[in-house]
Amino acid sequence: MEDLAANLERVREQIARAATKIGRDVDEIELVAISKTHPAERVREAHEAGQSLFGESRVQEARVKIPELPSAIHWHFVGHLQKNKIRHALPLFEMIHSVDSLVLAQEINRIAEEEGLHPRVLLEVNVAGEGSKFGFKPETLRAEMELLLALPRLTIEGLMTIPPLAEEAEASRKFFVQLRDLRDALEKQFDVTLPHLSMGMTNDFPVAVEEGATLVRVGTAIFGERMRPKRG
Ligand SMILES: *Cc1c(COP(=O)(O)O)cnc(C)c1O
Repeated sequence: MEDLAANLERVREQIARAATKIGRDVDEIELVAISKTHPAERVREAHEAGQSLFGESRVQEARVKIPELPSAIHWHFVGHLQKNKIRHALPLFEMIHSVDSLVLAQEINRIAEEEGLHPRVLLEVNVAGEGSKFGFKPETLRAEMELLLALPRLTIEGLMTIPPLAEEAEASRKFFVQLRDLRDALEKQFDVTLPHLSMGMTNDFPVAVEEGATLVRVGTAIFGERMRPKRG
């Protein structure tokens, strides 16, 4: 069994080293510990080891897990959000990293209005244009940004991406650069600030930090391998 405290310390060290390497202030970077599939007990251990921000990717799982844990823990949602889960998700999560279409954004806005909430969100971008992935295509996001920014209940704080699966961390670099460039272009074109870039997972988070990540989403390097769901 891995030592969660040691894993967390190693990940934080790697973040600090990557930040120092390019002259960034390490305080600009927040570690989101992705606890999906791992039981509440493991989250509690990580919390006791000093980690206070966690991420989940399934509303069903989070609805069971979050109420079992101390209310001092902060939660972000990072998975594909189904429309029929929005109402449950909004009160549980401080930020949704994965708003992946205009229709979803409009639906979140409508439900947030009914519930009297102002959710903080990131827009997920499919920078590599992979057919199988959720997320705005960069050109679609440019075309729809005006409509997104007009949704009164949403506070859009930045962009998120999941690059194509690769063995080498360096393979992700160009996608992280593309996300940052897109963010910079949107800020200019629409005269807004989009401070957050959510990018980097276990395989590539030091590269993401070098390219400007403010939120890194790390699961396996902290909690170990996830169990695969049983089949049939
Ligand atoms: C599971 C997941 C992660 C964490 O992945 P690891 O490779 O285990 O670090 C990060 N982001 C999202 C959106 C995820 O679903």
